[in-house]
Amino acid sequence: IKDEIKKVRDNVYEIPGTHDKKMRASGRFYIADEYIDELEEGAIEQIINVACLPGVQRYSIGLPDIHFGYGFPIGGVAAFNLRNGIVSPGGVGFDINCGVRLIRSNLTMDDIEEHLDELTEKLFKNIPSGVGSKGKIRLEKNEINDVLDYGAEWAVKNGYGWDEDLEVLEENGRMVDADSSIVSDKAKKRGIPQLGSLGSGNHFLEIQIVDEIYNEEVAKVFGLEKGMIVIMIHTGSRGCGHQICSDYLRIMDKAYKNYKIDISDRQLACAPLNSKEAQNYIQAMAAAANYAWANRQMITHWIRETFEDVLGKSAKDMEMDIVYDVAHNIAKMETHKVYNREQEVLVHRKGATRAFGPGREEVPEKYREVGQPVLIPGTMGTASYILHGTETAMEETFGSTAHGAGRILSRSKAKKDYDADEITQDLESKGIKIKATSKHVIEEEAPGAYKDVDSVVRVSDSTGIAKLVAKVKPLSVCKG
Ligand code: 5GP
Ligand code: MN
Ligand code: MN
Repeated sequence: IKDEIKKVRDNVYEIPGTHDKKMRASGRFYIADEYIDELEEGAIEQIINVACLPGVQRYSIGLPDIHFGYGFPIGGVAAFNLRNGIVSPGGVGFDINCGVRLIRSNLTMDDIEEHLDELTEKLFKNIPSGVGSKGKIRLEKNEINDVLDYGAEWAVKNGYGWDEDLEVLEENGRMVDADSSIVSDKAKKRGIPQLGSLGSGNHFLEIQIVDEIYNEEVAKVFGLEKGMIVIMIHTGSRGCGHQICSDYLRIMDKAYKNYKIDISDRQLACAPLNSKEAQNYIQAMAAAANYAWANRQMITHWIRETFEDVLGKSAKDMEMDIVYDVAHNIAKMETHKVYNREQEVLVHRKGATRAFGPGREEVPEKYREVGQPVLIPGTMGTASYILHGTETAMEETFGSTAHGAGRILSRSKAKKDYDADEITQDLESKGIKIKATSKHVIEEEAPGAYKDVDSVVRVSDSTGIAKLVAKVKPLSVCKG
């Protein structure tokens, strides 16, 4: 396949829609010129498979952190028209609305240096983490419905955080399409005990310091400056979202046959957007997304409480405001220019971050002039980045960019190649403290198991699908 990939411009490549007669769109990759030869064949095939789906618009897109996933690649974006398009759970992923949130503060290294160990220990204790971890609260059985229907709004109403938090969350932390009544009891049952927990693996909670500012003007709008202590959260919808994905994969596996949709891979199981199956999935997926926003909101509250406890000041005095909260795995109805016409499409982002540019009404008012904040985590041993959305992203990628560094080694390979004690020592030598529930997690999440995040964000920045604002460095990491 690789011979068919044509260079469009620096760091942008295309597989023409003529490559395979089933393709209804071209494939497009935003990938570092130096990485193009290493691009996984499997991920290229998945981009092509997605380009064959009914109603796909313009391009099936691979972002700089692309790698092989379930049906759709991770680091993939595809939009479908409402007339003959589809929705596919594989295009959203299992951890529905896995996402990242950034909290700022007015603290500097001087304020926390002596307390860093205690902060880390207490964060690790106060925010439940680990495989199958359980939250600290016990929901009443019908309360889960409110979580699924109202998301972060439910959380704030119940004392987890501040009213103004909601203004700076994608979708204000609640998708109004959600309908808890069509979520299975099994998904609710898995969701009830896990609400307010981090989970494991790639999910994390980091205390970071702003290390470099690339765009002073935008950084100021986002409330960031060099030397500032910030906190990054990465987690999703836990077992609840996973179960909803599984439930609908089973339904879609029947649906695509019923509706006679020709797919190249069973993992792309889908249903026409105007079908009952599709509408139900969209409402259930939105409910899972709300669960994830409630989850990150509760964790935010406990982070603030922990800082208050250790530093003896109120979170308001420490100005621990949320900068932004982005979704990684989601499908959304949005208006985009397709072939010079504004049109409503269903955009699937899987392992991708929305990167809406200036002027879009979905961007919180205080950021609207510069475009939305884009949060890109790196690894526990490297930098993470803050970028902003752009007009170029609106024109080329349905307003999307990468969501992280992207894995290059499987978990099992990483476990074989790395040793937890060595990694811990290595991090310590860089001044990074780590707490994890198991040594396996540390090995699986070794910085070397991921692509070079610096290169990933450089591609976003140089191709213009998101522009650099700031770089942050980890001081301490809690891993599930
Ligand atoms: P995913 O959403 O695919 O689970 O992960 C998103 C990204 O998070 C990964 O591609 C990786 O770059 C990043 N990541 C995973 N673990 C950590 C961590 O401990 N710290 C930071 N800063 N980033 C991480
Ligand atoms: Mn996740
Ligand atoms: Mn994620």
